[in-house]
Amino acid sequence: MMDWWGQNNMKKNRIILLAICLFILHFNAFCWGFFGHRQINYHAVFLLPPEMIRFYKTNIQYLADHATDPDKRRYAFPEEGPRHYIDMDHYGFFPFSELPRSWEHAKGKFTEDSLQAHGIAPWWIQVMYRRLIKAFKEKDAGAILKTSSDLGHYLGDIHVPLHTSSNHNGQKTGQTGIHGFWESRLPEMFANEQYDMVIGKASFIKDPLDFTWRRIYESALASDSVLRLEKSLSGSISSDKKFAYEERNGVVVRQYANFYATKYHHILNGMVERRMRSAIFSVASFWYSAWLEAGQPDLKTLIVNELSVEQHQEMDSLQKAWQRGKIIGRSCTN
Ligand SMILES: [Zn+2]
Repeated sequence: MMDWWGQNNMKKNRIILLAICLFILHFNAFCWGFFGHRQINYHAVFLLPPEMIRFYKTNIQYLADHATDPDKRRYAFPEEGPRHYIDMDHYGFFPFSELPRSWEHAKGKFTEDSLQAHGIAPWWIQVMYRRLIKAFKEKDAGAILKTSSDLGHYLGDIHVPLHTSSNHNGQKTGQTGIHGFWESRLPEMFANEQYDMVIGKASFIKDPLDFTWRRIYESALASDSVLRLEKSLSGSISSDKKFAYEERNGVVVRQYANFYATKYHHILNGMVERRMRSAIFSVASFWYSAWLEAGQPDLKTLIVNELSVEQHQEMDSLQKAWQRGKIIGRSCTN
């Protein structure tokens, strides 16, 4: 029979283990999660035309593996954070006529500091798009891959409804944790089994800024439902059914219970799948449009060189900053 000390020590060990697990979970907080961003970049490749698909397919592993690099940069550079979101509710209600669409006009009206404080995602996507056109024009294989992968990340982020709300983790409405619940837990549970990732073909985007704003409006309109539906579900279910301690990769973690996640996913009525499919289409269409704008360079002859010493150093420092685990600015978990 176990004595009091033995039981107490076991309890202590479980608490320590739990604390470590929560610590690990906090450190690995990525927008759309590792899983979602990888899926989006990966599946976008299959929407490309024959002239592009060979190069992109050959490098599909790179595009998936590096899909979360921009989130790693958030641990190293303070300017990185605002590129991943925009608080549309700061600018009133749909159709958000308070906020000029162009960077110059918005900056003239609100100042750059204020825009940075509430997120600059739509404008940063245009910067990345121009960089991708330049990389295609220069037939720089390394830059094409890096910029394609990064652009895929930022486009993925704006399809997440809570990336367009200042209540990004439900912190204002007693729903802390909902950010990761919607964008990581739900796709991880349901995407492989239930989502249809066959989407068709990429399209040419005539006006990338307008296209970007349309996706942001959709996300902003959906963010109300994301919060409201979880709130009402939470009120109808006893709290002991909401969370569960479950084993994940060999460690026990506290997370939204399968039962609760299934209910929430059901009442969202396909929203996560729709946003993910839309993100995949957007990413492929941006890649395709950049290639067209660059004059359709021949990608068959492109060779990806080994990474340079500087590129290796940059990747090492990103990895170290991420492992130290101090995000600079807003994270998806607070
Ligand atoms: Zn992000």
